[in-house]
Order: sequence, then C-alpha cells, then structure tokens
Amino acid sequence: MKPGLKDVTALSPAERATFIETLGEPSYRGGQLERWLFARAAPAFDEMTDLSAALREKLARTFYIPRPAVVDAAADDDGTVKYLLELEDGAHVETVYIPGGDHDGVCVSSQVGCPFDCRICATASLPFRRNLSAYEIFIQFAIIQNRHPDARVRNAVFMGQGEPLANYASVVGAVELLRRHFDVGGRRITASTVGLPRKIVKWADEGPAIKLAVSLNSAVQKTRDELMPRAARYGLDDLADACGYYARRTRRRLTFEYVACAGVNDDLRHARALVAFTQRVPSKINVIPFNDWPGAPYEAPNEERLAAFLAEVAKGPMALTVRRPRGSSVHAACGTLANRTAARLRA
Ligand code: SF4
Repeated sequence: MKPGLKDVTALSPAERATFIETLGEPSYRGGQLERWLFARAAPAFDEMTDLSAALREKLARTFYIPRPAVVDAAADDDGTVKYLLELEDGAHVETVYIPGGDHDGVCVSSQVGCPFDCRICATASLPFRRNLSAYEIFIQFAIIQNRHPDARVRNAVFMGQGEPLANYASVVGAVELLRRHFDVGGRRITASTVGLPRKIVKWADEGPAIKLAVSLNSAVQKTRDELMPRAARYGLDDLADACGYYARRTRRRLTFEYVACAGVNDDLRHARALVAFTQRVPSKINVIPFNDWPGAPYEAPNEERLAAFLAEVAKGPMALTVRRPRGSSVHAACGTLANRTAARLRA
C-alpha cells in the first residue's frame, strides 16, 4: 500500500487501457504498459522508457506497482537458485529457478506461509498470513526470467509455499497471465495440491488445462493422518473419486507425489496400498526421498529400503519415476529460506 495511490495490477487490462485512453493517449500505449508490468516485471513507471515522460509521471501520480523485491538468494552447484522475495507488506515468499536444459523452470509460491501443516514440509512452520494475488504469483516467474536473461524459462510449477487450490482464483489468474505474457502452455504448468476433493472437481469443470500433481504420501489413512493431518481430513475415498473425475473430465493423467520417509511409509505394506490406490485413477507415481532440513521429524530411507519399496510399486501397472531433490545444498525443502529469514528477523 502506498498512501493515496492505487495498485495498478489490481485493475483488469481493459481498465488499465481505459485509463490510458482517458489521458488522451493512443490505445497501443495500453499494450506497452501491459508488457512493462508483466513480461518485463518493471518495478517502477520510470523504467518504462518507451512511454513518454509525461505519461510515466501521470501514471506514477495515480498508481504504484507492488513488485516484490529480491532480498536473499542461495545457489546450488547444480544451478538451482532459490530466491527470497519481500512483498509490499513485508511478507516473504520463496521462488526457485530450476535449470532444465531447453526448458528451465520456476517453482512459485501461492500463499504467504501455509494453512496446512504437512509434517513433511518446512513451510508448515511458517504461519499462514494471506493468499498471494494473481500478480504476486505470476511475477515470480517474470522476476526469474529477468534474473536469468540467457535462460529459456518455460516451465512453471506451483510447488512452493502454500496450497494452490486453497487460493484458487489467484492461481487461475496467474496461469492466464503466464499464457498471455510468456506463452507457457498448459503442458508446461503443474499445480501440486495436497488433494482438496471439491477444488479438484471444480478445476476439472472450469479451470485452465494444466497438469495436476497430488501430494499423496500414503494410501494408508492412518499414515496419511500423521504425515499431513489437515489434508488427510479429506478421506482417501473422496480423494480417489475427485481425482478419477478429474482424469475422466480432462483426459489427463494425474501424478501422485509420494515423499518416502524412513520407517513411516516406505515398507512393503505401504507400497501395496499405493499400487491399489493409484489403480483407481489414471495416473503415474513420483517417489521423492524425504528432503531433510534442520529439525526435520523424518529422514530419507536408505538406498536398500528405498529399492525394495520401489520394486514392489513397480509390480503395479502405473508408470513410476523417482525424483531426487534439486538444490540440496541450498536449503532445498520449501520454506527453509523463509524460515532462515524469519529466525534472523526475530533475533
Ligand atoms: S506441502 Fe504444501 S500444503 Fe503442505 S505445508 Fe507444505 S506448502 Fe503447505
């Protein structure tokens, strides 16, 4: 908030274009303003060098741009870079640049903190403060592209802080902005959810066509209750029904994400339950060994135990992949950089 000024990103493109025209400017100026605000992530009207100085001054007298500032960063040997962004109200969120050859990616946050308390996730210790706006989600992608001008950033994953489907309208808005300003197609956008059945059905009925990943982590209700107590309030049957509906309605397979934790969900009983559950939904399975952080309640299975678990899951018909955490030397679990900053601010 800036006293006396309005958030320019809270207006629709049509409202911004109308404002420009009321100033007596040609209509194409509206398109220039859109590109500066979104594709180029301009932090101030002063930087919009192909707008006249008079127009920039008029805009600055009415509006402000709530562009987040990069306040911390940590780079890994594998090229992954995690950034901490400070929002206009002083809140912090993380966003991560993930190099991937032809198509680099960005992992964006959708909320400040998170209302869910998944015990497998460092973000759970960050109190939920608010939802991000569509602009605040989208601009993470644009900021990363600005920071890595030689990269071809074309993948977006909603796997940072927050539960995307709990901030439905802003996430839909951010997806639309990604398509409009970076031509990122739905096959290159993935939202990862803890599995909110009604929101999954809503997305299937009316949401943009993207890929959906469901953080399952156990197909045994009691174990899921322990790993993700709030999300697990939605029972596994309701989750399977919603995911099945999504797959039929969109004709897209879902991905079930499975964070393997030593001695908790990595034995043969859990492997068989996972196979049985995923057979109810056209899907694939992605197993991720638990990604440690200071004070974490779990640890990753050893290689022998993980191999036995994977061999059992592989007997099922679903495609199976294993994802090793990226950026392991840069506090890779989501929420760790924000936690570090929160601790520093408290000290
Ligand atoms: S896994 Fe996702 S929903 Fe669960 S606490 Fe972490 S950010 Fe929130």
